Amino acid sequence: MEPFFAARGIEAAYGRLQVLWGVDLELQQGEVAVLLGSNGAGKTTLLKALMGLRPLLKGEITLGGQHVERLRPDRRVQRGIHYMTELGVFPNLSIDENLQVGGFGLPRQELRRRIEELYETFPDLAKLHSASAASLSGGQRKMLGVAKAVVVPPRLLLMDEPSAGLSPRFVGEVVAVLRNLRENGPTMLIAEQNVKFLEIADRAYVLDGGRISFRGTVQELEADDAVRQAYFGVGGH
Ligand code: ATP
Repeated sequence: MEPFFAARGIEAAYGRLQVLWGVDLELQQGEVAVLLGSNGAGKTTLLKALMGLRPLLKGEITLGGQHVERLRPDRRVQRGIHYMTELGVFPNLSIDENLQVGGFGLPRQELRRRIEELYETFPDLAKLHSASAASLSGGQRKMLGVAKAVVVPPRLLLMDEPSAGLSPRFVGEVVAVLRNLRENGPTMLIAEQNVKFLEIADRAYVLDGGRISFRGTVQELEADDAVRQAYFGVGGH
C-alpha cells in the first residue's frame, strides 16, 4: 500500500556541510512515529526540510500520493503539513491570541467554534485564556503549542522536541496531551531525544549522523541492543 506520507532520499546541507544523507521515512495515515536522535543528529534539519524551510539537495516528499517537495512552506501548510517548533508559541500574546494566530485563514465563526472545542480538550488553557503565554508554566506553554498547531486540523503534524526545556513531570503532561490528541488526531512525526514519547508511538526511527540507523516498530526498537545502550542506558538482555 502506498504510504500516506513518504520522504525518500532526503539530502540537505548548510553551505558545504552536508547534514542529511539519503533519509527515507514513511508513515501510514493516523500513525505516530518518533524520530530519535542525539544533539546534532539532524532532526531539526530534517523537519525543516520536510516543511520546505531548508532546501533539499536531493529527495522527494509525498503526502497522500502527491509530491510536495517543490512547494513553498505556506503551500505545504495549505496541504495540511503543520510544524510545531521547540518554542511553538508567541510569548507576548495571550492564549486566545495564540490560538487565533494558529487559526489564521479560518472564517471567524469557525475559528470561534474550533477554539471552544480546543478549550474543552485543554481545560487548563480555557481557565487562563487571557493570560500571556509568557506567564504559563513550561508544560502549559507546550500544551498551548500543541493546541495552536491543531486549530486548523493538520493531516501531518511535525513536532520538534516537544520535551525541550521541560522537567520530567511536564514531559509526562505533554505525552498525556499527545495521547489524547491521538484519538482522532493527525498523523504525527515527533523528533525527540526523550524515549518517553515512544509510549504513544507506533513506529520509530533513529537518526544518527544524518542517516537513519534504525527503523521499525517500538517493540523492535526496545529489543535492539545498540538502541537500548544509547537511549535507555542499558546494555544486553
Ligand atoms: P538538536 O537536538 O541539538 O536540535 P538536531 O538533531 O536537531 O540537534 P540539527 O540542528 O538538525 O540537529 O543539526 C544537524 C547538524 O547541522 C549539526 O552538525 C549542526 O551543527 C549543523 N547545523 C545546524 N544548523 C546549522 C546552521 N544554521 N548552520 C550551520 N550548521 C548547522
